Parts: sequence; structure tokens; C-alpha cells
Amino acid sequence: MTRSFTPERIAKFELALLAERREAENRLAEHREGMAEVRVARSDANADDEHDPEGPTMTQEWSQRTAVLADAESELAEVLRALDRLADGTYGVCARCGKPIMVARLEARPTATLCIDCARLVR
Ligand SMILES: [Zn+2]
Repeated sequence: MTRSFTPERIAKFELALLAERREAENRLAEHREGMAEVRVARSDANADDEHDPEGPTMTQEWSQRTAVLADAESELAEVLRALDRLADGTYGVCARCGKPIMVARLEARPTATLCIDCARLVR
């Protein structure tokens, strides 16, 4: 038995995941736009003066944005993996012990790959 959920439940999770994917994609697009702006501002600053007082601030902003972008990217990847699992029937099965993940946990976090016991062990 690979499918541990009813089709109705699966459909519900799918809807939740698709909504999350849209959100993650929007966030990612916003971050990419923001990065492009900073990149332009940064090259202007470098061209003007190497000792521009704004230099370090820009670098800091850049690394912050890079981190945020990486977060958004991994979030989207997580959602896509969850949709894959939904498609191949392994959704809701713990990746570590193979037991079903509780529905309440999946409802709170549709991208969860571990049951609550395994998640506790890994953390
Ligand atoms: Zn487990």
C-alpha cells in the first residue's frame, strides 16, 4: 500500500502545494528583481569611487539578499519535490522510516518529508 490517503485528501494537499508553489515563485521573482537593482546600484558605486562609503553597506545588503534568495529557491524546490511525491504516490510517507506521516502534520506543513518522530531525531 503506497497510497495512504483518499483521493479527496490528495486533491486537498495538491491544492495547498500548488498555492505554495505560486507564492514561492512570486517571492523568487521579487527577490531576483531586487537583486538586479542592487547589482546596478553596486556597479555604479564601484565605477564612481572605490572607497565609496556606501560600499560596505551595499555588500552587506547583497549578501543578505543572496541568503534570502537561496531560502526562496530551496523553498520552491521543496514544494516541487512534494508535488513529485504526490504524483508518484509516495507523498505522506516518511522518507526515513517509511511510516505514514500524520495528516495533521502535513496540513500544517505540506512539504514535510519526515514523520514527527524522525523529524525530532534529525533536529
Ligand atoms: Zn519517520
